[in-house]
Amino acid sequence: MSKEYDIVVMGAGHNGLVAACYLAKAGKKVLVIERNKWAGGGVVTQELTVPGFRHDQHSISHVCLAANPMMTDDELGLLGKFDLTYNFLDIPSITLFPDGSHLCLYKDIDKTCESIAQFSQRDAETYRTHATFGKKVVPMFLQGMFSPPAPMGAFLSMLDQSQEGRDLFQMMTRSPLDILNNLYESDKVKIHFMKPVAQLLQMPDDMGTGLCMLMIPGLMHTYGIPKPVGGSGRLTDALIRCFRHYGGEVVMESEVKKVVTRHGRAIGLETLDGQLHTGRDAVLAAIHPKRLDRFIDGLDEDLLRRANRVKSSPFNILTAHYAINEKAKFVAGDVVTQASATEYATTTHFKEFVDQFEPLRRGEVIREKLMFSGADQSHRDPSRAPPGKGVMLTQAFVPYFLKDGGPQRWDEYKEEVADMILAGMQPFLTNFTADNIIARTVDSPLDHERHSPNSFVDGDEHGLGTYLFQGGSNRPIAELSNYTVPGVAGLYLCGPFMHPSGGVFGGGRATAIKMFQDLGLDFQKVAAADRVTLQRKTGFEKKAGPDAPVAPRATAAAAGAAAAGAAAAVSTPKDAQSMQDVVLYGADGERMISISSLEPCAGGLQINGRIYGTVPLLATLRPEDLRRCLGLLRWRLIPFLFGMLFRRTGASSAPR
Ligand SMILES: Cc1cc2nc3c(=O)[nH]c(=O)nc-3n(C[C@H](O)[C@H](O)[C@H](O)COP(=O)(O)OP(=O)(O)OC[C@H]3O[C@@H](n4cnc5c(N)ncnc54)[C@H](O)[C@@H]3O)c2cc1C
Repeated sequence: MSKEYDIVVMGAGHNGLVAACYLAKAGKKVLVIERNKWAGGGVVTQELTVPGFRHDQHSISHVCLAANPMMTDDELGLLGKFDLTYNFLDIPSITLFPDGSHLCLYKDIDKTCESIAQFSQRDAETYRTHATFGKKVVPMFLQGMFSPPAPMGAFLSMLDQSQEGRDLFQMMTRSPLDILNNLYESDKVKIHFMKPVAQLLQMPDDMGTGLCMLMIPGLMHTYGIPKPVGGSGRLTDALIRCFRHYGGEVVMESEVKKVVTRHGRAIGLETLDGQLHTGRDAVLAAIHPKRLDRFIDGLDEDLLRRANRVKSSPFNILTAHYAINEKAKFVAGDVVTQASATEYATTTHFKEFVDQFEPLRRGEVIREKLMFSGADQSHRDPSRAPPGKGVMLTQAFVPYFLKDGGPQRWDEYKEEVADMILAGMQPFLTNFTADNIIARTVDSPLDHERHSPNSFVDGDEHGLGTYLFQGGSNRPIAELSNYTVPGVAGLYLCGPFMHPSGGVFGGGRATAIKMFQDLGLDFQKVAAADRVTLQRKTGFEKKAGPDAPVAPRATAAAAGAAAAGAAAAVSTPKDAQSMQDVVLYGADGERMISISSLEPCAGGLQINGRIYGTVPLLATLRPEDLRRCLGLLRWRLIPFLFGMLFRRTGASSAPR
């Protein structure tokens, strides 16, 4: 039996749903097919232990989503119409040390510096410059995150045009360990900043992963850590409500077996029960590059070889969900319950902390000085548990491939590892004891893979590692980075393995933009349609963008090359963009290039400005290019340009 749609989607993960919502909003007849009993993939809240206790099975916080125009402009009405609310806490993260001290990362830079100053005054000053620089460059990276990626070569050559850009390149290509050792002196400060990096599943010494050292402070001090009220899965619920509102259909517990192609074009999805669901316009699928050949016949062998070479993250996560009788109480006091993320350091020596990663490289579980994180989600969100009770989540880094027994051993081993973590947490909590625990559910990396076998391949929550060589227009590989599959017209990809990366970014928006372009639809018009004005504070208001640089309070002592770069790049009054600048907008309404002045120079006309409001632009228009430029201005454009002078910006193309 076959049913016809305009678009069929494999997988009701949040990315597939985001893209499906935009397409349904554009009037397309869309079907989403999901193999699980639940929608949302890694964005789900379920009663995993006992009824009444609601646990985030995978993702908890939605950090990068906070900058997505889907939220800041409420393009899908998730906040205004479909009942989604977020908590933004003032303390994105806290690190607890075994000697009873703690270090807080506040949303406020000054307060964070005060917390750092307990351990080192010099580090506090360095951090002020570091965080201010991070906050300044983050908008540049975020602008490109929710639309198809810019070519990596062009991006790198842009960076190469100024000292600020080269400093940024340095940070991107170095390792977090290198950067931290250059910048900071206090072991506790270094541990505090290394732990969130590890949370991205990056080894401390992985070269080409240093960008996170800017992104993390930049994001934390701009947005903090947003969490949906009611749990991560509330995002999925709102997406489903939105999708159905625009006429979309979802089929649950139906597994896609094949992408059906005819004459080099994807025409639909075949499910395990033999049904063909036809997509007249397009097929969208959440298929990992290493799984392409299972779903699509006849792909080019070289393409498959390159797709199979993608590199997974070096380690994974084991989660344990607890229903507890009395909410968690911390030795460090109530400040812990005010934080979004709680990290536990079992050593105060940075070298010892870094050495903890060594067993992971060998496929072993860390036994000495375990690293873990964990919080009672009900402290800030009482809807998660019955009154007075709590839902505790603990997470620890583990390998997927166990040296002894491979991934399959996880089924018999996971409870033992969860017990080790529970024991390790005892010095930090007063009541995380057997008599307070009602029930527990443990998920190993193998379980995560079972939950979403075509995204979390090898148990990797990011689909694949967040390395520079497979980032941006090289994610997952260059040929697949445009969300399409060479040799199969009409087939589009979404998933954590695509740009912008693994995590809850709402990255399906970028896939939707690409599909809109190919289908001749106006994305900006559809995104802007039916927009409701948000009456209440949502926390998703637009933040200062790159064109409104933040002013530093002080300059830090130069502490290593990266800090020097940061100090050089921190804005000064001359950086501020003038309202008189000529701005060229990108496809997604982002300010790509702003031109502030044109001056005669020896080679022709010198153009001064900024790219993405951050990296200086100093370019020369040579006489021959001016002549070519006039050649581009064909006669028929003259009346159009004249008319433009008197035109207001149209609603559909309004730059934002
Ligand atoms: C333990 C853990 C903790 C995490 N914590 C965070 C966090 O705090 N913050 C954060 O930002 N990110 C976090 N992540 C990562 C985040 O959950 C994922 O990156 C995100 O869910 C990816 O979304 P997606 O829609 O692309 O893919 P998925 O969520 O994997 O969705 C893909 C969907 O496709 C379905 N599907 C697959 N194959 C088929 C088929 N053949 N037929 C039909 N349907 C199919 C799957 O069942 C699934 O529903 C975490 C992940 C894990 C595992």
